[in-house]
Amino acid sequence: MSIEIENLTYTYMKKTPYEKDALKNVNLKIEEGSFVAIAGHTGSGKSTLMQHLNGLISPCSGTVKVDGVDINRGGKEKIKARHSVGMVFQYPETQLFEETVYADIAFGPKNFGLEPDAVDKRVKKAMSFVGLDYEQYRDASPFALSGGQMRRVAIAGIVALEPAYLVLDEPTAGLDPKAKHDLLENIRALYRKGNTTIIMVSHNMDDIIGLAGRIIVLHDGCVAADGMPQDIFKKNDILQAAGLRAPHLTQLLRQINEQAFPVRSDCLNKSDA
Ligand code: ADP
Repeated sequence: MSIEIENLTYTYMKKTPYEKDALKNVNLKIEEGSFVAIAGHTGSGKSTLMQHLNGLISPCSGTVKVDGVDINRGGKEKIKARHSVGMVFQYPETQLFEETVYADIAFGPKNFGLEPDAVDKRVKKAMSFVGLDYEQYRDASPFALSGGQMRRVAIAGIVALEPAYLVLDEPTAGLDPKAKHDLLENIRALYRKGNTTIIMVSHNMDDIIGLAGRIIVLHDGCVAADGMPQDIFKKNDILQAAGLRAPHLTQLLRQINEQAFPVRSDCLNKSDA
């Protein structure tokens, strides 16, 4: 099982003076069970790539396959494959709308037609994953919570759908250091449970360190580097070109020593293996 991207090219505003090639012949395979970070400067194509993973936008050329199914062709199978990819966009709390935390997290599972008991279980589980106490917060208004807690509710709403692949776009953007740390710990715990493949978009190497087993660096719509963190962090020229800063050496050494999620060799592009 994997997400396979082949020769993916995407151009915005084609045949206008504003035409922009956002992705240029991208080839990637993301194996089930991996924790992959997608890093790169603003404008490098991260969001465009991410939006291809569940069919929000379709390639100008090339294919995106989820568990072998081309998500831009065919019928029911295509929809099912798209649903196995959960998307958490930047500042997801702006999309909260229900009166209670419970109702907001339950919205997706209910829409998928789950029975109330099953919805209940999903909400409890998702809240525990994001570190929100069920009894304490279930009836709270999401709008009465702190920024970090609102972010957790929004993420729980996607986690409750139990996607096989969870894509998080800059999940810590705008959070204070404590909320940021706590959220990254929650993401780590969710990954450790073992049922979710995580693809985390970030331009912050400090967020990625200690979490991702593989880093894909995008630069100007191309894959500039793809490999294990300790190898990527050595590629100073690529990091610099992509506007990324290598983490502090001691932090890197700690991460390598404690490496919780060694990358599987079959997760790497052949050229990097
Ligand atoms: P990132 O997420 O890495 O910041 P994006 O995928 O948002 O990068 O953008 C890649 C390139 O595509 C950028 O040059 C950006 O200006 C351009 N772009 C993104 N969205 C649009 C759009 N809706 N219309 C035109 N150009 C866009």
